[in-house]
Amino acid sequence: MRIDIATLFPEMCEAVLSESIVGRARRAGHIQVVCHQIRDYSQDKRRRVDDYGYGGGKGMVMQADPIFRCHQAICRELGGPVHTIYLSPQGKVLTQERCVELSRLPGLLLLCGHYEGVDERVLETVVDEELSIGDYVLTGGELPALVLADAVARMCPGVLAAEECFQEESHFGGLLEYPQYTRPEVWEGRPVPEVLLSGHHGNVDRWRQKQRLLRTLQKRPDMMARYQPTKLDQKLLEEIRREDEGLVQDACNVENFV
Ligand code: SAM
Repeated sequence: MRIDIATLFPEMCEAVLSESIVGRARRAGHIQVVCHQIRDYSQDKRRRVDDYGYGGGKGMVMQADPIFRCHQAICRELGGPVHTIYLSPQGKVLTQERCVELSRLPGLLLLCGHYEGVDERVLETVVDEELSIGDYVLTGGELPALVLADAVARMCPGVLAAEECFQEESHFGGLLEYPQYTRPEVWEGRPVPEVLLSGHHGNVDRWRQKQRLLRTLQKRPDMMARYQPTKLDQKLLEEIRREDEGLVQDACNVENFV
C-alpha cells in the first residue's frame, strides 16, 4: 500500500512515520508513505495557502487551489485517482472495521486541514470520505492522519510478524483483548494466571476468550451490546453470569447473550 499525506507540516508526519514498526516496514518496502507540502502548490509569490473566511469571523481558511493542485499532482504521479480522505472533526469516527477495509486498498491520500478548516469547494471536488479520530477538535489534521496511517499500515501484509498479531487484538472481532503477562512468573507477590503456564493450548484459548468477554462487559458494555456471541461465547457468558450475576446484567440485557 502507498499512503500519500498532503499537509502543511510534512516534516512532522515524516518524523513520526520513520520510527518504530511503521518506519521499519517502510524501509523493508512493505508500505510506502509520501508526504507532500501543500505550500509547494501555491501560486502566491509568498507561498500563502490561507486567507480570511468569507462572511467574517476570526480564523483563516485553507484555500482551494493549492490543495486542488497538490491533489492533481499526486494523482498524476500515481497514474490515476486515489481514495482521498479528509481528516475532519465532522467526519465519521474512525473504527477498527474501517481501518481493516482501508488496509485492503492499493493507496490512500490523506488531506490534513489547518486553521478554521478548508474551503468547502475543494472538499466537494476531491474528497471521497471524511474521517474523524474522535469528538474533539485539534489544531490540525496531521495527528489524525498519523493515527489513521499507523492503524491502517499495521494491517498491511508484512508489517507485523503475522496476521494473528492484530486479529486477536482489541476491537478486531468486536471484543477487547484478554490480559497479557510476561516474565517473571511472580511479580511483587502477584502470580501469572496458572492456566497460562499449563501448556494446554485448548485451556489457554478458552480462558482467553472468557477474559475477552469479561473485559468487554466490564470496560465497554456498549461494545458488548453490539457483539454477536458464538455458541462457545454463550457458554462462557453463562459461566460469567454464575460467577458474577450482577456484572452481566448490569452491562447489558442478559437475554441477548445466554
Ligand atoms: N472549524 C472546524 C470545525 O469546527 O469543524 C475545525 C477545524 S480544526 C481547528 C483544523 C483541522 O484539524 C481540520 O481541518 C481537520 O483537518 C483537523 N482536525 C481537527 N480535529 C479533528 C478530529 N477530531 N479528527 C480529524 N481531524 C481533525
